[in-house]
Amino acid sequence: MMRRVRGVAAPPPAERADRRAPQKKKDGAERVDRRAPQKKKDGGVKTSSLFKHNPDIPALLSPVVSQVKEKIFTSDSFSDMDLHPHLVATLNKVLNVSTVTSVQKQTMPVLLSGRDAVVRSQTGSGKTLAYAVPVVQSLQALQQKVSRSDGPLAVVIVPTRELAQQTFQTFQKLLKPFTWIVPGVLMGGEKRKSEKARLRKGINILVSTPGRLVDHIKNTLVIAFSSVRWLILDEADRILDLGFEKDLTVILNSLNSTGPSRQNVLLSATLSQGVTRLADVCLNDPVTINVSGPASSDLTAPATDPGSADQPESFTLPEALQQFVVVVPSKVRLVCLAAFILHKCKFSKNNKLIVFTSSCEAVEFLHAIFTAVLSTNQKPPLSFLRLHGNMKQEDRTEVFKEFSVSQSGVLLCTDVAARGLHLPAVTWIIQFTPPTAAAEYVHRVGRTARIGGRGSSLLFLTPAETAFTTELANHNISLSEMKLEDILSSLMMDDTFKGRGRYHSQSSSKALEQETRERATVLQTEFENFVHSDAQSLQNAKKALQSFLRSYTTFPAPLKHIFHIKHLHLGHTAKSFGLRDAPQGLSAPGGGEEQEEGQPEERGGRRKRLCQQGGESAEI
Ligand code: ADP
Ligand code: MG
Repeated sequence: MMRRVRGVAAPPPAERADRRAPQKKKDGAERVDRRAPQKKKDGGVKTSSLFKHNPDIPALLSPVVSQVKEKIFTSDSFSDMDLHPHLVATLNKVLNVSTVTSVQKQTMPVLLSGRDAVVRSQTGSGKTLAYAVPVVQSLQALQQKVSRSDGPLAVVIVPTRELAQQTFQTFQKLLKPFTWIVPGVLMGGEKRKSEKARLRKGINILVSTPGRLVDHIKNTLVIAFSSVRWLILDEADRILDLGFEKDLTVILNSLNSTGPSRQNVLLSATLSQGVTRLADVCLNDPVTINVSGPASSDLTAPATDPGSADQPESFTLPEALQQFVVVVPSKVRLVCLAAFILHKCKFSKNNKLIVFTSSCEAVEFLHAIFTAVLSTNQKPPLSFLRLHGNMKQEDRTEVFKEFSVSQSGVLLCTDVAARGLHLPAVTWIIQFTPPTAAAEYVHRVGRTARIGGRGSSLLFLTPAETAFTTELANHNISLSEMKLEDILSSLMMDDTFKGRGRYHSQSSSKALEQETRERATVLQTEFENFVHSDAQSLQNAKKALQSFLRSYTTFPAPLKHIFHIKHLHLGHTAKSFGLRDAPQGLSAPGGGEEQEEGQPEERGGRRKRLCQQGGESAEI
């Protein structure tokens, strides 16, 4: 019998074919699977282990969806808005923007008129300036000139450190002509003492991650919130996820004490019902702006349709984003990803890729194995960067900067990079492990095709997970299928991972397929050799597998029928971590022990804390 993850029930239909074949043999498939490919006498490589006994790849259903289009730019310019001329000049010269986007055109007048707002528009449509420009415009116009001793006048909450940094930099630029207004960022990972000192000197526009702000509210007595006039929650749905909800309550309580009346703004490309509830409670008669929704004059319409139990939220994706899905049996996943990366970064130029995976350990694993196996013998060497929540802050900042300015390369990351980040010129988003919700899918792919640009995305699914395309279709997202063989065929573009060598250009298509499979097996063998080369690498691969299994138990209830730990084949999954054998004594962790306390699994973002950081709310 093949080994499966503990507590196995019936396999999903897609895996059944897989199990039947080997069972006919007395020998069973296990031994075949577990051995590294062996050299035949003639020097060829056995290809049996990688391509045999895989589940059939089911035909993908492609439900018809009518994707909603959102026009990014308008014909108006910033100089037409009622803004200080120095602010317009700064927008033009420092930020290089002149034409306003649709969301900016709709949001800025509302905020400048003093109203609260809930804003939804697609990823990369310019939401940051849509709120930052009105904040700066209003603060520079205050009768009583702003001074550092006023403390925070605007508080901007964002879910991750990199987004905090990026948002802070936008304010720094906008404030160039208004030097008396001081922006500042609190983001964790930095010395509390130095943040405290900066707070004491006075920060007028305070950008922070929720956890770090709470930390200062509790431990630093120097934040006086009495003058706060603006509260912005960017990526508002995310801020209500994870452990952030509790943090937000602390923040709201400390803001709500006294002071002038405050304008509140919630923004995201995806708004959940939680955001609508928050808007009801915290916002004062807000204007809802939904760029792809009903005309903005129709402000009474439920424009921010967050969906409901039987009516899922309909998402708008960038028009020039091409979305693909590939169905890959577990065993072949690692080589398939490697072949795709080689195709984009070795055999074609100027591609910048972001690869999302589910845990810090998996990012570390992929980074080590690709750097060792794919970078060698390349000129220039393929560059692999990594970003996840278990890295030191200096390293995170360094990587973020490096990837931002680079023309090409691969960033391996967790969902810590899924929200809000603007990394210029990214051409491909690869979701090596699936997102925990359709909304997270939208944010991950939203790292490309920004502000009217082009971009593509590729989602990896196993045969058992293909129903996720239907889930995406329910949210108005439609994907085109890419074939596994086509991706693997890039291994034929040079002879680095040559098979038996009998193939030549006149050979039959069968021989071509055989050679491609042999090359994939050679590559897999190299991965396995790397993993088994020393105890540390082996340990890292096992840790990555374990964390993958753990994260697989965290899918929210409505997606559990698609992504269930019981559907995973442990031996095959181990292979996608370069392990020849499914590790002994490894079992799927029972649900619950890492579950956020008291939080039912109801939405995607309620993911377990896979990598916790001292004193800060969950980051991944
Ligand atoms: P969103 O928050 O909607 O995902 P961002 O605010 O991050 O989008 O903006 C994406 C990028 O577009 C940023 O680099 C920003 O500087 C740029 N941008 C914003 N507004 C404009 C504009 N009106 N014209 C050109 N570029 C813009
Ligand atoms: Mg944004």
